[in-house]
Amino acid sequence: MRRPLVAGNWKMNGDSKSTVNLVNGIANGRAEVINAEVLICPPYILIPRAADTLNGRDDVFLGAQDLDINESGAFTGQISASMLVDAGCKYVLVGHSERRALYGESDQDVAAKFDAAQKGALIPVLCVGETLAERESGDTETVVARQLQAIIDLVGAEKLADSVIAYEPVWAIGTGVTASPEQAQDVHKFIRDMLAVLSTDLAENMQILYGGSMNPGNASALIGMQDIDGGLIGGASLQAESFLAICKSAN
Ligand code: PEP
Repeated sequence: MRRPLVAGNWKMNGDSKSTVNLVNGIANGRAEVINAEVLICPPYILIPRAADTLNGRDDVFLGAQDLDINESGAFTGQISASMLVDAGCKYVLVGHSERRALYGESDQDVAAKFDAAQKGALIPVLCVGETLAERESGDTETVVARQLQAIIDLVGAEKLADSVIAYEPVWAIGTGVTASPEQAQDVHKFIRDMLAVLSTDLAENMQILYGGSMNPGNASALIGMQDIDGGLIGGASLQAESFLAICKSAN
């Protein structure tokens, strides 16, 4: 039985004070979230502040938004998996569309990060999804399959078992436009069917999250779909109230 996971991607937002407030707000409302696992991904520099605020409680997981593929050394400005684990992280996002589009990360770069995350004992949350132009030209499945195949080619299908997949149509991220539950379900099913060819257990157990303008008003309908196992939330994860409302919609 798959447990829903609701993950907040804070992106480049917040400071020490807002982090303490937001983490306390989420922690205070956590008991009302019955079903979902809860994950927050603050900016690197705020992760220790979030960890201190959580003060050892393990019902709100910590994650990062990116990592470097190297373990240590002369890589100015970069952060490794072991540093993230040391700071209290359990998860890390890889291949977010903003990393792909703004920082030129290729499918192979993302696969290398996926591999580095797992080798460093982090659970990668692999983001996949098509642009508007790709959807309009009927290439959604081709793009998603290509992004997933790059991971399989590098690490092997069995390693996917220790990861989470987030389907995030790029045209829905930060735009206020959400994929309809049916549109999202179609792609989630496509991903699960692709995994089923590799292993029925893998397909059955994989948490596949939806991301793209999910909010308290649309979360229940999306998470209610058969192959949608939670959400990766951007804007609505910056307020405890809206983030918790989304978490509770999986109750
Ligand atoms: C995201 O960036 O992962 C995301 C889903 O953002 P938003 O919820 O703001 O669309």
